[in-house]
Amino acid sequence: MNKKTLRDIDLKGKKVIMRVDFNVPVKEGVIKDDTRIKGALPSIKYVLEQGGSLVLMSHMGRPDEKGITPDTTMKIVADYLSKLLAKPVAFAADCANADAEVAAMKPGDIVMLENTRYHKEEQAKCKQKDGESDEDFKARKAALKEQQKELAKKLASYGDVFCNDAFGTAHRAHASTAVITKIIDTSVAGFLMEKEIEYLGSAVENPVRPFVAILGGAKVSDKLAVVKNLLTKVDTLIIGGGMAYTFLKALGRKIGKSLCEEDQIQYAKDMMAHAKDLGVKFLLPVDNVAADKFDPEANTQIVSDIPDGWMGLDIGPKTVELYSDAIKNAKTVVWNGPMGCFEMEKFSKGTFGVCEAVAQVKANGGISIIGGGDSVAAVNKSGLASKMSHVSTGGGASLEFLEGKELPGVVSLNSK
Ligand code: AMP
Repeated sequence: MNKKTLRDIDLKGKKVIMRVDFNVPVKEGVIKDDTRIKGALPSIKYVLEQGGSLVLMSHMGRPDEKGITPDTTMKIVADYLSKLLAKPVAFAADCANADAEVAAMKPGDIVMLENTRYHKEEQAKCKQKDGESDEDFKARKAALKEQQKELAKKLASYGDVFCNDAFGTAHRAHASTAVITKIIDTSVAGFLMEKEIEYLGSAVENPVRPFVAILGGAKVSDKLAVVKNLLTKVDTLIIGGGMAYTFLKALGRKIGKSLCEEDQIQYAKDMMAHAKDLGVKFLLPVDNVAADKFDPEANTQIVSDIPDGWMGLDIGPKTVELYSDAIKNAKTVVWNGPMGCFEMEKFSKGTFGVCEAVAQVKANGGISIIGGGDSVAAVNKSGLASKMSHVSTGGGASLEFLEGKELPGVVSLNSK
């Protein structure tokens, strides 16, 4: 990786302001999945071992849309982290007013700031309101950006050094992820960030071949740029899930009332033609689990063409075989998006079948990367997560990586 990491700087006696991704699911004050907290431990421990002190900051939930709730306070995470590390973690109840807590820190101490998104200027989201003139909108946006800079300045004042270990928000240019790097001189990646960039970056830019990408999930329109970018990199592109039906329709196949984005049919045709020109194998389902309704108890049948009134909710067994053969022979596999409605048992076999094939890639000496979102949930549910080379912690961020975009939270870090 060409970005500096914690390993490249002297941390002794330094205050490190670290952006982590502690956006964990919380219900009634209880953390339901601590993967993201544990993911940040190597960076946290390293700073403390090197004689530094730490100010941790993160967002949790969507307080900008849903308001501040008892389940979005970072106090819950501070207490949890304190137990994990078996040491006190001080808590600052306002991320923009933590001078006292930070001043009291000694080497080896940790302060956790309250949810950064309790301040709207963290994200500085700004949409033109109905009836608002272009000029007024521009002025409001500029004022918000100014406030964002002020918040970033405040956050920067807590540290000598900035470390970004929050891959999950690296695709956002927020006060705590990217704007802060314009104020503080030294900005480096944490170890989780480093691992994400190394896996996703080298998979896409320097893949060991054959390179197979598997895309699924509900919508083609969410993955337009991913399909386009990956086609220029992969040897085989496998499509499953709801998004497959727009491609099948583009080929003139019968898809019943399966998910279909009519406005993407031309795009689907273009992509398949592009794949042919590039010599990329483009695999679509050859059979499907069709259901008479979107329901866990629906009647089902395995069909290649889907009758009127029925919908494809999973790939069929022949498709699982076809996809598994392509996957097992790969040396690099990237997977984003389930093959069907795996949340319902009747429509989960395709996703779990593909999961088993992907799990064999590492055993065969290849690299398997699960690129965020629902495929991570599926892999965790299958119990095969430990058989994957890398399970990404960032859904949106890993998708943008696969689109070939530069992530603001990554490009803003110091280069080596
Ligand atoms: P995404 O967020 O785009 O990755 O989509 C994930 C969602 O797509 C999951 O909740 C799946 O249940 C859903 N999904 C997968 N396959 C289908 C399908 N064939 N029809 C409808 N929804 C699907």
